Amino acid sequence: MAAHHEKKSEERKHKSTQNGTQASQGQWGRAWEVDWFSLASILFLLMFAPLIVYYFIMSCDQYQCSLTDPLIDLLMGNKHLSDIWNKTPTLTYTAAGIYIVWVAFQVILYVFVPDFCHKFLPGYVGGVQEGAVTPAGVVNKYEINGLQAWIITHVLWFANAYYFHCFSPTIIFDNWIPLLWCANILGYVVSTFAMIKGYLFPTNAKDCKFTGNFFYDYMMGIEFNPRIGKWFDFKLFFNGRPGIIAWTLINLSYAAKQQELYGQVTNSMILVNVLQGIYVLDFFWNEAWYLKTIDICHDHFGWYLGWGDCVWLPYLYTLQGLYLVYHPVELCTANAIGILMLGLIGYYIFRMTNHQKDLFRRTNGNCKIWGKKPEYIECSYMSVDGTKYYSKLMTSGFWGWARHFNYTGDLMGSLAYCLACGFEHILPYFYIVYMTILLTHRCIRDEHRCFSKYGKDWKRYTAAVPYRLIPGVF
Ligand code: NDP
Repeated sequence: MAAHHEKKSEERKHKSTQNGTQASQGQWGRAWEVDWFSLASILFLLMFAPLIVYYFIMSCDQYQCSLTDPLIDLLMGNKHLSDIWNKTPTLTYTAAGIYIVWVAFQVILYVFVPDFCHKFLPGYVGGVQEGAVTPAGVVNKYEINGLQAWIITHVLWFANAYYFHCFSPTIIFDNWIPLLWCANILGYVVSTFAMIKGYLFPTNAKDCKFTGNFFYDYMMGIEFNPRIGKWFDFKLFFNGRPGIIAWTLINLSYAAKQQELYGQVTNSMILVNVLQGIYVLDFFWNEAWYLKTIDICHDHFGWYLGWGDCVWLPYLYTLQGLYLVYHPVELCTANAIGILMLGLIGYYIFRMTNHQKDLFRRTNGNCKIWGKKPEYIECSYMSVDGTKYYSKLMTSGFWGWARHFNYTGDLMGSLAYCLACGFEHILPYFYIVYMTILLTHRCIRDEHRCFSKYGKDWKRYTAAVPYRLIPGVF
């Protein structure tokens, strides 16, 4: 983030008042107050999110991915909850073994194998990189080696599938529900540990936020950047490694299962693997950029990230592939090309929008966006210790079209994954519904935070770029 220190004290406070946000500027690290709606949503998610995941996976396992049939069976009295529960595979030693090896392997790749990809891949930014300024004014260093971990993991996966045959490439699908219990255990252990750590031995006490509400703190996290030792960063590890590296492996396992069951892999399964594979690879290619996104820059580490990365992400982001194992859809060429184009255009918008902001911020505005010098709004904010920083909000390129056009591209890509599954069931469409809610809520959350941070400068920006996602509409 391009931000410059300025001299401290009275003058700074004075300027903050001018900015219209004196009361809230010290709180920009967590501007979202614990109102009754936030609390109700949190309690709802804590109680029901694990059940929602279970319901989706169970409905594929027992009802061929129909979301309505289990409900109909229960309401008509054809089945009791206990019938469904008794048919659910339990935790097994095999699954526990697979999961422990998987997580341990990712920890080893993350902590003990420094990045070498940046030494030979032109344009790739890896190795030790700095994150953004935290509310306490700290700048953390990160070892960016996710691309390397992804490559090593996938090379080993293919080497096993084609040469070594130590385990079946369908191993993930075959143990999917037993693995769900393991993922839940890890998700809860990590979130609970993070909460206790926040109270007893925080990595940086000044970057902890206690709202006084136990459930809110558990869900949204206390510590900003919890770490063990110098390098094991909870946020970077849990989001990227058990979550996003697993994403492409899970899809490959589904493709292998289609091959095993039907003797072929359908074009829809290939589309889902390719489009989601591009998204995952993009994430790791741009892992250094990820340090500047909301997850790392603004969210604290609690159940939302800890459990979400271990369970929600790998289980619900991969529903399309799972669905296609039960319903192998073969798309006609025109539909396949249309969906591919939608996915690629969405990806292009997503990537270019993010790239434009990254370039703009890295060069402090000294760059070209669409061949011209970018236009922007100058703004200022303060960290908790009263240090004043300056920043800029770009109003050129895609950032002049809408305040979150990167989300719009993301949503187009998400829709493409769903469309690849045809229209027989609603289950694969969960993703686009969820992403629309997530990203719209994120827009609002981010804007609330940015307003607290930048005050009237943010108002000038929203006047210059009035729409959030779709120019002229929203
Ligand atoms: P952004 O990358 O859009 O970052 C928002 C931040 O950028 C703001 O808080 C502000 O931070 C800064 N900013 C806002 N407007 C401007 C501007 N005009 N010029 C310069 N800086 C600006 O949001 P996210 O971190 O949420 O998303 C990153 C990407 O990740 C998105 O493409 C999104 O689609 C994707 N994503 C995917 C998810 C998934 O589950 N698949 C989940 C979440 C995100 P500052 O305080 O620095 O000014």
